[in-house]
Amino acid sequence: MSRTPFIAGNWKMNTNIEEAVALIKTMQPQLNKIQGVEKVLCPPFISLNAARGVTRGSTVKLGAQNMFYEEKGAYTGEISPLMLKDLCDYVIIGHSERRQYFGETDDIINKKLKAAVTHNLKPVLCVGETSEENEAGQTKEVIGGQLIKCADKLYFMSGMVIAYEPLWAIGTGKNASGNEANRTINFIRQFISRMHGSGIANTVRILYGGSVTAANISEFMREPDIDGALVGGASLKADDFVSIVRQASEIKGL
Ligand code: PEP
Repeated sequence: MSRTPFIAGNWKMNTNIEEAVALIKTMQPQLNKIQGVEKVLCPPFISLNAARGVTRGSTVKLGAQNMFYEEKGAYTGEISPLMLKDLCDYVIIGHSERRQYFGETDDIINKKLKAAVTHNLKPVLCVGETSEENEAGQTKEVIGGQLIKCADKLYFMSGMVIAYEPLWAIGTGKNASGNEANRTINFIRQFISRMHGSGIANTVRILYGGSVTAANISEFMREPDIDGALVGGASLKADDFVSIVRQASEIKGL
């Protein structure tokens, strides 16, 4: 079953508009030359419009880092799917930093997923366990619970991507091994197969995220169930991100 590899850069709360545009302009000519990989950049909201101008006509796609589930109204500071739908293709939903610092629950995440697909935004749904849960051998239970609450069949039909991001590996420099990540991602695929059938499970792209760098991406891309990566810190360095995308293409590019 061939699945187009997917590499997304999550810039988190970094770069102003000028810096975001400059970073895209630095990466884009090289990214455009790399075939067979879907490349998505997720700058902060304020830069999406400028980024859209810079990426028009290129192979680089855009994603938002978050989104609220209501379309409009008295929700000070929030961004709605209606505001995003003409600016980007993807939206990251349920990133662990949202769960951890902004109190996002599976219920909220489910509402956001539903709102995203209603407005033709493809979600990148993040799941993952804490270090305590990992050490207690609860990884499968935790992720299974997240999938049951947040992974309706409808969302997969929209082209949803799943990112397995163990919390202990995000921004810590302590990545999971390729083998370890593949084992959990294989579990996620089997779980989705039991929930929605093998057709969906075999086509959904499942990424690894957590301290991915240009030095370790090949370890992940060589694993059979890993279809790409959600990259934080390393996606802010043009050479590193281009190298990650290039290696993904060399190993699994279609
Ligand atoms: C992330 O932001 O999803 C992430 C995985 O960050 P980092 O690559 O910096 O660990």
